[in-house]
Amino acid sequence: MKTETRLLRAEPASDAGFASLAVPVTRASTIVFPTSDAFERRYEQFYDGYTYGLYGTPTSRTLEARISELYAAEHCLCLPSGQSATVLALSALLKAGDRVLVAASAYGSTRTFCTDMLAAFGVEVVLYDPTIASGIGALIDDRTRVVVVESPGSNTMEIQDIPTIVQAAHALGARVLADNTWASALHCNPLDLGADMVMEALSKHAGGHADVLIGALVTRNEALFRRMKDVSRLMGLGVSADDASLALRGLQTMPLRMEREGVSALTLAHWLIGRPEIARVLHPALPGDPGHHLWKRDFRGASGLFSVELAVPYQNSTSSFVDALRIFRIGASWGSTHSIVTPQVPFRSNGGPGSTSRKLIRFSIGLEPVEDLQADIEAALAVLSAGTTHSVRKHAVDQRELQKEER
Ligand SMILES: *Cc1c(COP(=O)(O)O)cnc(C)c1O
Repeated sequence: MKTETRLLRAEPASDAGFASLAVPVTRASTIVFPTSDAFERRYEQFYDGYTYGLYGTPTSRTLEARISELYAAEHCLCLPSGQSATVLALSALLKAGDRVLVAASAYGSTRTFCTDMLAAFGVEVVLYDPTIASGIGALIDDRTRVVVVESPGSNTMEIQDIPTIVQAAHALGARVLADNTWASALHCNPLDLGADMVMEALSKHAGGHADVLIGALVTRNEALFRRMKDVSRLMGLGVSADDASLALRGLQTMPLRMEREGVSALTLAHWLIGRPEIARVLHPALPGDPGHHLWKRDFRGASGLFSVELAVPYQNSTSSFVDALRIFRIGASWGSTHSIVTPQVPFRSNGGPGSTSRKLIRFSIGLEPVEDLQADIEAALAVLSAGTTHSVRKHAVDQRELQKEER
């Protein structure tokens, strides 16, 4: 055998005696088989074995096993992003002529995928009021295949009565898909509340460092899992071993990070309620929140994401406030070690129930000491009231000048 061929056929060194705490990163597109017969029968092991890198590697299977365990479920399928997981689930369950119900408070791209793409493929899309509870029954007809819940809503934080919605949906033969990204498996398990499948964007709390994108679909129903897996192959969706290993690393510290972020977020939320610049703090763990009783019943904890609405005199000065923040960085996404502020998220602008042009500011609390975060917000609020005082004064001066001229 020539040198070139020998290099191409190099066998890895033996791993006997190598016991690392880290999950190995196993990259592959091609997976080789010992015989042509084994290759021809490869799809027998499609769901839990290895056939092609896109359909799973030991690293991605390890991640799927961890996530399944967190949800006390048998099946998990990881996908390249939370959005691709939602798209896969809905595409696999719906066809032309069906109807899907989507919470009007759901993640923006979930709603838009339904209203733009699914609608174009002949699926009837109904956006419903997230606080509808048993009223959902009136929207479910015999063409309704799926009800999408997301609790709390991405920006507006309404808690949904998942058990009641599940009961109504199942009574009429519809399945419930729950986006559980805010809570993660640590704070809520929608499968225990009756949902058929959970979607969690592992890009958020599990990844935890704003540097990886992965989504997970989790279910206790084997037929549903197999359907997802089949469609993931047809859509060409799989996760890289490198990304899966980052998510596995993130999971190790997720409980500690989420505990810290939750405590800091609640401290800030309570403090912000008392500030005159703030009209409303939207956080389901606050006793005054409209969804608080449901949150207490169905959740074990709160994550670090919440929104505020500025008081009326300051509503046009959102950018001065956000731009004055120094520790909070401006951007989308959440669940990272860094605190993030998302300016001007629409309260509800989707034409669904409760649509309004009101805007919110969303905070994702990171691991910085809460004193630093509070000081940062306090300084930015001072800019806000200084700006308004200035413009109020300027307005008064202008008025006086005008009156003088008139005299
Ligand atoms: C971020 C997010 C998604 C999408 O996840 P990506 O991994 O960014 O695609 C879906 N739902 C919710 C609630 C999210 O916050």
